[in-house]
Amino acid sequence: MSEAIEQQLLEELKRLRKNAYAPYSDHPVAVIVEAASGKRFGGSNVEVAHFKSVCAEASAISAMIAAGERSIRSVWVLGPNDHPCTPCGDCRQRLREFGAGTMVIQAVDEHGTVTRTHTLDQLLPEAFGPQNIPV
Ligand SMILES: [Zn+2]
Repeated sequence: MSEAIEQQLLEELKRLRKNAYAPYSDHPVAVIVEAASGKRFGGSNVEVAHFKSVCAEASAISAMIAAGERSIRSVWVLGPNDHPCTPCGDCRQRLREFGAGTMVIQAVDEHGTVTRTHTLDQLLPEAFGPQNIPV
């Protein structure tokens, strides 16, 4: 039997995806990141005509940062169709900035079924991150 996410989380992902602004790609995406505190922050992708768009992961991370949080422990991604939607390369690096390699990233479908589960280390092995630039 497949793992499913909680109904409230799925409803929030669907709301965020509905609010995505993706007129050029028709690829609306919603992301929720769960901070170390347990608070959750959502984001939607935002496209612009010159194609330097903002991914849903970046939107969710921005909301988390604006709230004063700095550490992610879990991520859920809902894409527009049945194809599992995992973070793009840029977003994998963004996630690395605010989380450990053990961070869990789950792609879910329309019904809340988890279609992919990865750790960040699996998606971005041998990552360059904050540990490489001591401050
Ligand atoms: Zn991305």
